[in-house]
Amino acid sequence: MTTGFEHPERVQFDAEGYATDTRAVRAGQERTPVGEHSDPIYPTSSFVFSSAREAAARFGGEEEGMIYSRFTNPTVHAFERRIAAMEGGERAVATSSGMAAILSLGLSLMQQGDHVVCSRSVFGSTVSLFDKYLSRAGILTTYVDPTDLADWERAIRPETKMLFLETPSNPLGEMSDIAALAEVAHKHDALLVVDNCFLTPALQKPLELGADIVMHSATKYIDGQGRCVGGVVVGREAEMEQVFGFIRTGGTCMSPFNAWVFLKGLETLPLRMRAHNDAASQLAEWLEQQPGIERVYYTGLKSHPQHELACRQQKGFGGVLSFEVKGDKAAAWRFIDATRMVSITGNLGDVKTTITHPATTTHGRMTPEDRARAGIRDNLIRFSVGLEDIEDLKKDLQLGLAAL
Ligand SMILES: *Cc1c(COP(=O)(O)O)cnc(C)c1O
Repeated sequence: MTTGFEHPERVQFDAEGYATDTRAVRAGQERTPVGEHSDPIYPTSSFVFSSAREAAARFGGEEEGMIYSRFTNPTVHAFERRIAAMEGGERAVATSSGMAAILSLGLSLMQQGDHVVCSRSVFGSTVSLFDKYLSRAGILTTYVDPTDLADWERAIRPETKMLFLETPSNPLGEMSDIAALAEVAHKHDALLVVDNCFLTPALQKPLELGADIVMHSATKYIDGQGRCVGGVVVGREAEMEQVFGFIRTGGTCMSPFNAWVFLKGLETLPLRMRAHNDAASQLAEWLEQQPGIERVYYTGLKSHPQHELACRQQKGFGGVLSFEVKGDKAAAWRFIDATRMVSITGNLGDVKTTITHPATTTHGRMTPEDRARAGIRDNLIRFSVGLEDIEDLKKDLQLGLAAL
């Protein structure tokens, strides 16, 4: 973009050599000649050309520039550049939701006959997408224990194109060794895709550990205040160009308004993640000492079976913890209903703390047998720790404990 500035290097930021926190605040912005300090928003569906020749050159890809907001929009591109800089990827492609990100990856990078090996502890809709819809395109999925490297290896076939995982998983915090799985994937010419929704680049950088692609539901921590639905994929230019091609045609694109909200979210993401992490760490340890609690799941606890891997792979443990209360489903419901301040909702990654009963909500569509296999017990409660005062959060949890 022409800047019109006497010293463009002074107002256009080059992220090279800068830390993640700095990139969160500054990377990706291309200032217009008016010199706006904050990011502008471009709510326009199309862009105009100065001549028929120019229009033809843009559509033909011979000249760079904006065309139509399904696939080119400056606000969306600014968000893509910023998250790519934070994850350490060559390029990002924004999508209308986290699910649209996975759908777009699946349909752009695979074809009929290809195979996916997927952690069995991924977001419920991810499983539905693979089993109900990608299967219709002849792309089949095998599920494995995310923590067991040998299980991943055994599931790989000659036609395996993608390994897909979330670490730490939701809601039990099971972990996969990203570096080890990247090696496995590459030995078999497959791509390792990591859903980095729970830790974000503030606390975990899968690409640096060898993963090929990172994806996000931007709806969660990237927004951080529960306003917009969106997603993004980040990786190398070659694969991202394929994903971009799908978005351009398939229309799974992000709106400029949402991109602007996510851009603003990224600016405070590292700060928020540290605060979520600190509060969740304190509460996890506190909960572990409460008599009404059977078990706490949080990768930051020394009692977590993969705590050592968590310390090696992550820069923090995140803001989501889960715990089993002593008792059954009724006890878990009594606990939830006795709290006063925290929000009873399925969402997470918000400044407002949320409390969820996975067995009857987020994991309610699974059969009881599948749920048991996944370790989602009826007395399990998920807690996404927000930014309220920690003593107030303890007070609310104490109300729950007293109701057991
Ligand atoms: C919410 C979520 C998704 C899906 O994202 P949407 O934005 O709701 O479509 C995918 N993966 C994880 C880990 C999630 O938490």
